[in-house]
Amino acid sequence: MLLSRTFAFVILPTFLAAQTVVLRTTNLIDGKGHVLKNKDIVIAGSRISAVRDGAKGPATYDLSGLTVMPGWIDTHAHLGWFFNKENRLDEGGRGSKTTPQETALYTEANAYATLMGGFTTEQCLGSAVEGPVRDMINAGAIPGPRILTSLRSIDERTGTPEQIREYARKMKADGADVIKLFATASIRDGGAQTMTDAQIQAACGEATALGLRSVVHAHAIGGARASILAGCTSIEHGTFLDDATLQLMADRGVYFDPNFLVLHNYLDNKPKFLGIGNYTEEGFAAMEKGLPLVAEVLKRARRHNVKVVLGTDGVAGAHGRNAEEFIYRVKDGGDTPMNAILSGTSVAAEALRMGDRIGSVAAGLEADLVAVQGDPLEDITAVRRVVFVMKGGRVYKNVARQ
Ligand SMILES: [Zn+2]
Repeated sequence: MLLSRTFAFVILPTFLAAQTVVLRTTNLIDGKGHVLKNKDIVIAGSRISAVRDGAKGPATYDLSGLTVMPGWIDTHAHLGWFFNKENRLDEGGRGSKTTPQETALYTEANAYATLMGGFTTEQCLGSAVEGPVRDMINAGAIPGPRILTSLRSIDERTGTPEQIREYARKMKADGADVIKLFATASIRDGGAQTMTDAQIQAACGEATALGLRSVVHAHAIGGARASILAGCTSIEHGTFLDDATLQLMADRGVYFDPNFLVLHNYLDNKPKFLGIGNYTEEGFAAMEKGLPLVAEVLKRARRHNVKVVLGTDGVAGAHGRNAEEFIYRVKDGGDTPMNAILSGTSVAAEALRMGDRIGSVAAGLEADLVAVQGDPLEDITAVRRVVFVMKGGRVYKNVARQ
C-alpha cells in the first residue's frame, strides 16, 4: 500500500508534465472576434489548459511570425465524392465503377487532404461511407477532421410524412449526427420547391423530436420558408432567398450557409462532370448565373444579421481546397476577413452545437489549431498557406520552418 502510494506520488507529476505542450504565438485570432498578441497556448492532453502572456519558459512549438487560429470548420461537404480512375465524378455506391473498398480509400484520402488544408471539423451531407470513416478517425486509427454526417438524405421521393419520420428515426439509429433534406431542386434544375410543406414538416419536426439538427438544401423561397417554419436549424445554398425570408431566418436563429466553392469547383472541373445526370450544358449555365446571386444573397444576409456559417458544399475536386471558400466570401461576397473567419470557427461550432468544445481558442476547449503564413485579416489568401495543424492536441502538420 505504502509502496503504491509512493509510486503514484513520484510518477504522476512526471506523467502530467510530459503531456503539456506549449505553442508560442505572436498573432492569434481567437475565433471570437479578437486578435491577441504574444500569447502562449498551453495544452494538456487533447485540450487547451491556458492562454497566457507569452515568452514564459520554453515552447514546444514556436509559431512566432505566423497567424494562429482555431482549426477551421466546414459545415457542408461530400467527403465520399471523388474523381475515379477515368477522372470522372464518382459517388461510390450503386452504379459506381469503383469498389466499396476503393470508395472508402478515396473518402479517407479526401479526409486527409481536408485536415492538411486546415479544417479540423467537417459536416458531411452525406453518404453512408462517411459513417465508418468518421468512426475510424475518432478512434485515432486514420487521420482526418472531426466528422459529423447525415449518412443519407431525405427528399420528395422518401415517402409520406409518416414514412419520412420513420426514415429519420432509422437514420438516427444508424448513427447519423444530423438530418439532411432536399426541400428544393438543384440549382442545375431551377431550384424550385420539391418536397411538400407536410413532408418538410415531418423531416424537420422528427429531427427536432430526435434531438438532431436539420439542415436543408433550399434555393427557392418556398422550400426555405416551409423549412424555417418547421424548425430547421440551417438553410444551405439559399440562392434565391428574398429579404423577408432572410429576416425570418434571423428572427428564428436559423443559420445560413451560402456556398461559392462548389460552383467554382464544378466550373473549374467541368469535363469531369459533364454528361453525368443533370451536369448538362444547361446545368453549367445555371451554375455560372448562380455565382453573382450567391454573392448578393450573402451581402443581404449580413445586412439582416443572419448567422452565417462557412460551408463549401465541397464535392470531388474541392477536398483540401476548402479554405478557398474564405477567399470567395471576402473577395466576392463582401465579407470582412474577420466575419469570414468567424463563420468558419465559432459561429460554425455553435451551429453544430459544439461551441463548448471547438471553434475558439480558450481554456477548456479542444486543442484544434491551425497556423498560416501571413495575416488573413490583411490578405485573406493567407488561408492557402497552412503550415501547422493540430487536432485534439495532436500535431498532424508542421512545416513552418522547412
Ligand atoms: Zn451538398
